Amino acid sequence: MRCEGLGGDVSTDQTRDRRRGVPRTDAVLRDPRLVAAVDTLGRAAVKDVVALAQERVRRGEILPDSVADVAAASLPRHATTLRPVVNATGVVLHTNLGRAPLSAAAVDALRAAAGTTDIEFDLATGQRARRGRGALEALAAAVPAAEAVHVVNNGAAALVLVATALATGRDIVVSRGELIEIGDGFRLPDLLESTGARLREVGTTNRTSLRDYAAVIGPDTGFVLKVHPSNFVVRGFTSAVATRDLAGLDVPVVVDIGSGLLAPEPLLRDEPDATTGLGDGAALVTASGDKLLGGPQAGLLLGRAAIVARLRRHPLARALRVDKLTLAALEATLRGPQSPTWQALHRHGPDLRSRAYELSAALRDHGVAAEAVGTASVVGGGGAPDVTLPSWAVALSPALTSPLRAGELSVVGRVERGQLLLDLRCAPPDQDETLRTAVLSAARDRQA
Ligand SMILES: *Cc1c(COP(=O)(O)O)cnc(C)c1O
Repeated sequence: MRCEGLGGDVSTDQTRDRRRGVPRTDAVLRDPRLVAAVDTLGRAAVKDVVALAQERVRRGEILPDSVADVAAASLPRHATTLRPVVNATGVVLHTNLGRAPLSAAAVDALRAAAGTTDIEFDLATGQRARRGRGALEALAAAVPAAEAVHVVNNGAAALVLVATALATGRDIVVSRGELIEIGDGFRLPDLLESTGARLREVGTTNRTSLRDYAAVIGPDTGFVLKVHPSNFVVRGFTSAVATRDLAGLDVPVVVDIGSGLLAPEPLLRDEPDATTGLGDGAALVTASGDKLLGGPQAGLLLGRAAIVARLRRHPLARALRVDKLTLAALEATLRGPQSPTWQALHRHGPDLRSRAYELSAALRDHGVAAEAVGTASVVGGGGAPDVTLPSWAVALSPALTSPLRAGELSVVGRVERGQLLLDLRCAPPDQDETLRTAVLSAARDRQA
């Protein structure tokens, strides 16, 4: 096609001249580094970086001979755009950063299950076997108070399955103080009503009594739902009805504990757990897998055998079922060592303090203004909304915020009173060296 228009022939000639200098794509793709990259990243991704380098030759920014070098240098490291991020926010479960980080044991399990695996197959008999039985057995073993257990995609899916199986066309009785928004505009009442269940709201925002529940329970009641207000607290003239008391009513009580604590955690006294809920008479407890349990995204359902069997056999269960990767990571989380989330919650103040002092001294040695400061971390992500955990941070210039975020290894801290704080509670000690390197490189980038 001829290029017409302003400047006509002159610009056309220039374009041609430059084009002639651009090496052909197939020739560039023969470079061994790019051949290797096609295997790990896919042909399309490699062609994209080659095209960008060719474009730079056309613009006269680089020499034709350097196309392969420039393309190789700008190859993405992975076939995914998701990047690892060091969580230095001081929010233990940060929803925007993927909530719970998985343990090494869980990551190992993911790898083992990634290929073909015996997810629904009994290697001893050669027969079909119950899907994910290892993970389900581990969950049942962790909560002996549950007669049966089931796992779906997330906490919201668990609620949808319960509402659909037990209350379509019927009432879910719930306190007005527990009609919560989970986050990002998702509201529990909307989620429950989307299943065709009716919400029967009782009580007021601050106070609900057992009589309020008893007054509306009847033949149309599917179940009573008790929801843990996991991301806010109401103080003052308040009262809510305990599971123990609701269990005396003649209908199943479903408790959405949110956080996924399987047993009481002394550090988080007000946080409900599955064992206590079932012991108090709940017919079913629902929870997330990637909050305080410290595992993969999942929805846990624990409770009476007859109810869990109904859920498992409901047609919707197939649409909410988890994949082999989730089951592998969940089982390893349950059977393996304490999760990174547990460790972050239980880090000792003196250890955090000495890490903060060492890291800030190392940064000052390289001319970066840094100071160890005491601070407070929070649990975040749908758990213990009124708990703060004393912590230590490295305080830096806020000018480093964006270079650190955008760096080769992304570090996300929090800006507080004009300083960038890297709170060390959520970062394991073996990330201190990474943090040091990342800060130094961010400081260099800023000076450059
Ligand atoms: C987090 C939470 C949910 C939603 O769970 P997801 O796993 O995010 O779907 C539901 N209820 C409560 C009380 C929660 O805290």
